[in-house]
Amino acid sequence: MRTCLNVNDLRNDIIRRVEEMSGQDLMACYQCGNCSAGCPAAGAMDLLPNQIIRLLQLGRVQEVLHSKAIWYCAACLTCEARCPKGIDVARITEALRTLAMEKGIRFIDIEELPPETLADLPQQACIGGFRKYNI
Ligand code: SF4
Ligand code: SF4
Repeated sequence: MRTCLNVNDLRNDIIRRVEEMSGQDLMACYQCGNCSAGCPAAGAMDLLPNQIIRLLQLGRVQEVLHSKAIWYCAACLTCEARCPKGIDVARITEALRTLAMEKGIRFIDIEELPPETLADLPQQACIGGFRKYNI
């Protein structure tokens, strides 16, 4: 059976919002993998940066919103520097984190952190991290 994929059908409302919020054209990615090859956080990610984009291209946004990878992105911009299409993955992961939080998807719940852990954590790092993770 032949399957035809139409770009406009795949670009659902959430995908359009990711593009609007990030300012990136997801369909410009041709999956060369340069971003993932240079990403310092790739070893901890459950989806590589190019896989995040591929799933978005296919309209599979829920898998991406529930991934750990969008939270592990350190916004180091290595991927943008390596991308032949100039795609800024950090902007995409930032948009995805915002959308995930809008939908009540939490990466870390501060209520679940033990008091001794909270006491040991550097306050500056906590504030920076909590801004990112919007706890
Ligand atoms: S480097 Fe750019 S074009 Fe290549 S897979 Fe990553 S985002 Fe896509
Ligand atoms: S900005 Fe994020 S996805 Fe890109 S190389 Fe850095 S950690 Fe990896």
